[in-house]
Amino acid sequence: MSHRPETEAELAQLVRDLPGPVSVRGGATRAGPAAGPEIRTGGLSGVVLYEPAALTLVVRAGTPLSQVEAVLAAEGQRLPFEPGDWRAVLGTEGTSTIGGVVAENASGPRRVQAGACRDSLIGVRFIDGRGDVIANGGRVMKNVTGYDLVKLMAGSRGRVGVLTELSFKVQPIAPAQATVIVDVPVGAAPAVLSAALGSPFDVTGAAWVAGQGALLRVEGLPGSVAYRSKELQNLLSALGAARIEDDAAIWTAVRDVAPLAGLPGDLWRFHLRPSQAGAVAARIGGAVMLDWGGGCLWARVPRGVDARAIAAPFDGHARRMSGTGLAPADPPEPQAVARITDGLRAAFDPRGIFSGDADADVLYP
Ligand SMILES: Cc1cc2nc3c(=O)[nH]c(=O)nc-3n(C[C@H](O)[C@H](O)[C@H](O)COP(=O)(O)OP(=O)(O)OC[C@H]3O[C@@H](n4cnc5c(N)ncnc54)[C@H](O)[C@@H]3O)c2cc1C
Repeated sequence: MSHRPETEAELAQLVRDLPGPVSVRGGATRAGPAAGPEIRTGGLSGVVLYEPAALTLVVRAGTPLSQVEAVLAAEGQRLPFEPGDWRAVLGTEGTSTIGGVVAENASGPRRVQAGACRDSLIGVRFIDGRGDVIANGGRVMKNVTGYDLVKLMAGSRGRVGVLTELSFKVQPIAPAQATVIVDVPVGAAPAVLSAALGSPFDVTGAAWVAGQGALLRVEGLPGSVAYRSKELQNLLSALGAARIEDDAAIWTAVRDVAPLAGLPGDLWRFHLRPSQAGAVAARIGGAVMLDWGGGCLWARVPRGVDARAIAAPFDGHARRMSGTGLAPADPPEPQAVARITDGLRAAFDPRGIFSGDADADVLYP
């Protein structure tokens, strides 16, 4: 059964009346249709408040991400954390919602400079498992007081409550951008990416793509971008042949993990120490892509293989993003973290209403 409340009050009443667990769904681009009863957030849509001069946006959680981006772009602004469109690489359909983006803490290449989704989120409203409306944070940074539920809800994946309203700080779209491309194999990429990120040239993207090399983005005013990209090229020339490109589509492809779309095998994402990314890529031996300076490694791995064994000797973890393999999708939480998670969920959802996805392992093929 699918519920689609049109107002926050209707949603709160619905949660109070629910006899058992449900799954929360925005556009279902990531999670797919729920196995059991679900709450769809599409009815809770629209911009509540947008003050371009104050760089502040308040929006209902079921609003399509594309609509949020269009409203901001009309004022020359954007979400700093650059959320992606993963439908092609995941092989899913639907319309991603801003609530789904926050629930996944979805963040793109600019995370290395602007932070993750949670760092741009300044306020939330959500319905907890008792059907109470919880508001936390505010529309300006200084209103954030007491317990920081804003950070808790970013990445909560529908397991704590249903997000209804989100407040963001936004940023102006940079008038110019350029990419320094260094022709190196993946094993040599982390050193290049680290050198660039450690430089004073304010790099806003640091990735490696097969067939291209290490990619370093700078953004800002045209004169500044021209100066910084040239200096970066000079710096990195010591590590490999370096050239400058101004094609912004390079970063749309990185953001959307497009180089791995349509390839065979399960899709895995590793979170690693950047210095270990080259060694992990060598162990995988197949199609890989690096983002976040090497801290994030994407890979196609033969179907059914548990790639966590590949990550085990290293400091990090692996998460299966698509595939019907036997390996669980999520890495296990360390015991201490699991205790905190259980405690928080018991506090906000004592009836376990939002545990509808608890056993959902294979989310999409
Ligand atoms: C583990 C994971 C990490 C991801 N990280 C990134 C990333 O770093 N960068 C990037 O660009 N993309 C990322 N994505 C992809 C992207 O976030 C999603 O594909 C998409 O934005 C989700 O939007 P949706 O509306 O389709 O959500 P759905 O597929 O409907 O739901 C996704 C999850 O969010 C929950 N959810 C949805 N709406 C609400 C709400 N209103 N309140 C509470 N919970 C809700 C659901 O219960 C489910 O757990 C990630 C996806 C996954 C699986």
